[in-house]
Amino acid sequence: MQSSVEATEITLEQVIACPKLPTLPAIAVEVLRLTSEPDVPIKKIADVVQNDQAIGAKILKTVNSSYYGLSTPCPTIARAMSYMGLNTVKSLVLGFSLVDTFKGIDEAASEVGFDLVGHWRRAIYSASGARLLAKHSSAVDPDECFIAALLHDIGALAMFLAAGRQYTDVVNEFAPASKEAIAAERKAFGFSRLDAGLGLAKSWRLPETLQSSIEYRLKPDDAPERHRRIVRCISLGVLAAVGLSEKPQPAAIRTFKKHADEWLGIVGTDIEGLLLEMSVGASELSKFFSLTTGAQPDVKAIVAEAEDARMAHQIAVDREQSKLTEQAFTDGLTGIPNRKRFDELLTKAFDDAIACDGPVAVLFCDADKFKSVNDTHGHQAGDAVLVELGRRLTAALGDAGTVCRYGGEEMAMILPNTDSDTAAQHGESIRAACADSPFDVRNTGAKVDELPVTISVGVAARDAGSGDLVKSGSMLLRAADKAVYAAKQGGRNCVRRIKFANQAKPDTDAAPTTPPSAASVPTASTPPAPPAPAATTSAAKTPAPKPPPAPIPITDAHQPVQHAILIIEDDLLQAQLLAVPLRSALPNSTIDVAHSVPDALTATKARGYDLVLCDDMLGDMRAADFIKEYRSAEATQFVPVVVLSANETHQHAAEALASGASAYIPKSRLFDDPRARLLEIVNFWTQLAMEA
Ligand code: GH3
Ligand code: MG
Ligand code: MG
Repeated sequence: MQSSVEATEITLEQVIACPKLPTLPAIAVEVLRLTSEPDVPIKKIADVVQNDQAIGAKILKTVNSSYYGLSTPCPTIARAMSYMGLNTVKSLVLGFSLVDTFKGIDEAASEVGFDLVGHWRRAIYSASGARLLAKHSSAVDPDECFIAALLHDIGALAMFLAAGRQYTDVVNEFAPASKEAIAAERKAFGFSRLDAGLGLAKSWRLPETLQSSIEYRLKPDDAPERHRRIVRCISLGVLAAVGLSEKPQPAAIRTFKKHADEWLGIVGTDIEGLLLEMSVGASELSKFFSLTTGAQPDVKAIVAEAEDARMAHQIAVDREQSKLTEQAFTDGLTGIPNRKRFDELLTKAFDDAIACDGPVAVLFCDADKFKSVNDTHGHQAGDAVLVELGRRLTAALGDAGTVCRYGGEEMAMILPNTDSDTAAQHGESIRAACADSPFDVRNTGAKVDELPVTISVGVAARDAGSGDLVKSGSMLLRAADKAVYAAKQGGRNCVRRIKFANQAKPDTDAAPTTPPSAASVPTASTPPAPPAPAATTSAAKTPAPKPPPAPIPITDAHQPVQHAILIIEDDLLQAQLLAVPLRSALPNSTIDVAHSVPDALTATKARGYDLVLCDDMLGDMRAADFIKEYRSAEATQFVPVVVLSANETHQHAAEALASGASAYIPKSRLFDDPRARLLEIVNFWTQLAMEA
């Protein structure tokens, strides 16, 4: 325990100054000094190298080997320098002298379980790899890469020599030289092998590129611009070396491939060739350096395994991605596609229909009196009904189309390749699928087991009969929504469809969709009262055998079309003067009144209007204030807004129109016959909107 405290309290300075660390050999010190001075004659450096006979001999043996591939033998260091450049010899001096310095530590390493063979294997393989990559990229000096890679992990040696088993206990749990191992060092000691290596390189005055290669090995992109290429080569060399360890690490090869492509544009079979060459080079280098580096890797097998792992990884990523995409398009409560998916499907189905001049239909439905389900039986029961509703509609529609939750208690269905009559039949099927049997709300906290639920259904289709009137999917959707509104007005639990031009004539055309008992059923004008869920608690507990529910014929929401119109007028009397004649002229339409811009914006969020009639002066706000905001929302950008104004100046009109008003009409023009004038405005603008 005592020693553990001492070991983890070791400082970076203590590691760098550790007496167990060998000192930099004299030959290396001298060569570094001479090469950093300007204009030192090559002969002088060569003499220094030759004075250390052991190193000199190793260098000559190495440069004359096939690894360096000289065409003519090179008998002296001075000749080697002139053939191969100063850098080659300098790198070899540094390499040989430093590796030799650390030669006596085998025993210390095995005592504390430090994997010295693995260490030198990575060093030699990285040096071989980095040199090859540098040659390949031709932008950096291969010899600088060679020596920097050879010494990249010198900090690990320093740390194990200074901290002993404390160090190996920390790192041996992790893959050698991995990010995780380095993070664990930081956690345990407050610094890592990178800091120790950098400190050592600085104290030995090793070249700056070598220092950067240690410091930025894990993040080469952060290295100073002038060293970045070299650091990338070192990082790649180390990745390849780690991948080709005696216990191969395909993940490192995967990362190597990725960066080799990104940084140096090396791809495909080049990678395997490069790793093979690197491995052959490494085995020669280990002989020159008299280092044991373990068995030769089976490069082909490791690359193949890395590729398999990459593919498996990619498949997992793709799967996760498609799961996320699926989630983004699925309604969380009901598990059916959501509005986003509906919008996509609608656009696609409409485009397809246009492309082949075929039919396409939209069904829209809204649960009747659904608020009272929540109010009476609780939100959980409401949720259960929505889930069941999604399920029933999906089953009833089958392959004919896709049921989506549009929002709240509204479901929208897209029926590709379906004409208006067929869509109306499907509308009746889904209506019956809900009304025919009560919904199960057990285990929701509701006081009843079952609830009767009905829906109002709207139908709209583009087909041969609709002529050119239907210009877009969203127009179809708006029309179906309007038809739902008509169904609500018609007593709920029924189907209505919007008739475009020559589509089915009202009632008679709907006959085929009516079940055999249709003769005895009420017509659309006298629908049966929809079941009121809130009021049927006791009946639902012991459901009495019921006669089959009476189907309601599908009718067309034909003229006069129901509109939703918003009047924005701050003057109460003026508002009445507009609303009253409109309400009497259009009894089936909704005429809402807002007295301020904020009220109007709230109202438009709550429902869609077909037309807005807006006073110009609204307290201290102007119609323009409303219109700008109204136009900025996707849902309302094309809804006609007609400004009615007591002010007849050109400037006011211009301002309103500039803000996006559809028209500017002086109120005085309405006075002769307000009802007729307002109807003209409504008919003109709503018709235009449908055809726009
Ligand atoms: P109508 O027949 O005119 O459509 O009447 P309604 O009560 O269905 O219409 P209204 O728009 O007034 O109420 C819709 C209700 O739907 C209000 C809201 O609480 C409920 N609702 C919307 N989304 C959910 C949901 O996810 N879960 C539950 N439980 N209720 C929801
Ligand atoms: Mg609703
Ligand atoms: Mg509803």
